[in-house]
Amino acid sequence: MLNMDYSLLTDYYEKLEAVSSKLKKTEILSELFKKTPTGELGDAVLLLSGRVFPSFSQLELGVAKQMMIKAISKASGFSQDEVEEKFKKTGDLGLAAEQCFGSRKQTTLLKKKLTISSVFENLKKLPFISGEGSQEKKLQLISELLVSSKAKEAKYIVRTVLGELRVGVAEGLIRDAIVSAFLLEKGMPKEKKNEITDVVDYSWNLLSDYGQIAVIAKEKGIEGLKKVKVQLGNPIQVMLAEKAESIKEVIEKYGKIAIETKYDGMRAQIHKKKNQIWVYTRRLEDVTKQFPDLVELCQKSLKADECIVEGEVLAIDKKTNTPMPFQMLSQRVQRKYDIDEMSKQIPIQMNLFDILYLDGKMLFDKPLIERRKILEKQVKIIPKKFQLAKNLVTDDLKKAEKFYKEALAERQEGAMIKVLNSQYVFGRHVDGWIKIKPVMETLDLVVVGATWGEGTRANWLTSYLLACRDAKSGKLLEVGMMSTGLSEEEYKMMTSALKPLVREEKGRTVKVSPKIVIEVKYQEIQKSPTYESGFALRFPALGKIRFDKGLEDVDTIERVKKLYESQGRAG
Ligand code: AMP
Repeated sequence: MLNMDYSLLTDYYEKLEAVSSKLKKTEILSELFKKTPTGELGDAVLLLSGRVFPSFSQLELGVAKQMMIKAISKASGFSQDEVEEKFKKTGDLGLAAEQCFGSRKQTTLLKKKLTISSVFENLKKLPFISGEGSQEKKLQLISELLVSSKAKEAKYIVRTVLGELRVGVAEGLIRDAIVSAFLLEKGMPKEKKNEITDVVDYSWNLLSDYGQIAVIAKEKGIEGLKKVKVQLGNPIQVMLAEKAESIKEVIEKYGKIAIETKYDGMRAQIHKKKNQIWVYTRRLEDVTKQFPDLVELCQKSLKADECIVEGEVLAIDKKTNTPMPFQMLSQRVQRKYDIDEMSKQIPIQMNLFDILYLDGKMLFDKPLIERRKILEKQVKIIPKKFQLAKNLVTDDLKKAEKFYKEALAERQEGAMIKVLNSQYVFGRHVDGWIKIKPVMETLDLVVVGATWGEGTRANWLTSYLLACRDAKSGKLLEVGMMSTGLSEEEYKMMTSALKPLVREEKGRTVKVSPKIVIEVKYQEIQKSPTYESGFALRFPALGKIRFDKGLEDVDTIERVKKLYESQGRAG
């Protein structure tokens, strides 16, 4: 089969960069998808979204800017200093590469035409190179591509490898372009179009990979997509919860329900295929490598040959054998080295709450209560290590409230109420899972540092380091980093308020004189080794900017402590 020139793809990158309308972008993408040979379609879809692997993959290309500068230098004949100079001027290594290869000093006789496949082949190898001489080998693979590149190709290869493609192709656009390229027919009524989009969404929920979906759409059309099955190793989009104010209102509406502990940990979607285990987070990131202990537990305790189960992983305090706040577990998620040692330091507990797939059968349509029964049969329980989420089926309000209070007393987040006949539905849905959590009081905190944003937010300070006050010493003590809950206007407002207060700048982070007070909402206060206050706010979000308040109004560490202590009794 004929391969497609990489230069054609780069023409399309340019076209995509030049327009901002979503409709136009979809048209451009769709045109390209139609032209792309089936064998390269999956790769092209990934490359267009700026990736080499699907978003859930843990594989990283592992090429830093410095190595890229070397590669550009090696392939273009410009010295590293010259490349660096161009990088400094443009602020974009892609553009620097384009300039170098536009006026290349080195001509090669061995120039071969780059195709999507040949580019992809080399990039795909990068994550698997490790150990001695790996830098050299990576450099070689990239230079090999650059040597054969025209200026424009070099620009996009560099950007792709550095994960900075920025042609504005979000997943929604890829979906629409697949629909338009392969599934729509002229004159189709709107309802039919919507139906088709729903089928594509369904296949996305199961496969989470538009590369694969595009190929199925092209080869087998809508009927092929309707038949898509779960693939072990491709994470499934997760079900989420609605909120309710009280247990009473939920029981009044549904009668008998299942109430479960809402654990304060990390959601894990586990796939098992014989001895192979994958662990995905709620955002469908592959964290299998970070949790060898969980993998071992799953191998031992999941009875089925093939299954997908979900649960909440908790960090356990080695000394007391009780759960610790989520903060501790996040250290494990981020850890890239000394993983076995880390597993010993911060052991885990798995609390399973659902089963979605068992030996070839998808279980999404089965009612919750049945899925729970199936789950119970599939797990060899190891108490306090690998167990089922605590659960009570009842229509008795008193019993349900007692259950909730016990969950809070155990320092968990609250309760998850589940409608007994509800199916597993992807995303957030009514009549499925309903969460009940205490509402926290707000804190007034002062901003002591901030971080410059990225991409379109590069000119704004977008995350803010917050501090409370020690009333005795007057010292400010950090309690967390807030970056959510702000509108564009508020980012701008915060940036202009903080800019004149900057005292120190290091990379993208700045320290500021403490002046701006903000009212902060949060879900919970946790003990934390990260901040000097000894506490961290979980999910801090902006309530209001309080220009009317001064340093003396900033809440004290005593109040933070009090609120922390009262959490167990809330509700
Ligand atoms: P939220 O993130 O507040 O919308 O709540 C949903 C999250 O609660 C899920 O993604 C899980 O990580 C977590 N969770 C904790 N315990 C349970 C449980 N028993 N059932 C379902 N989800 C739970």
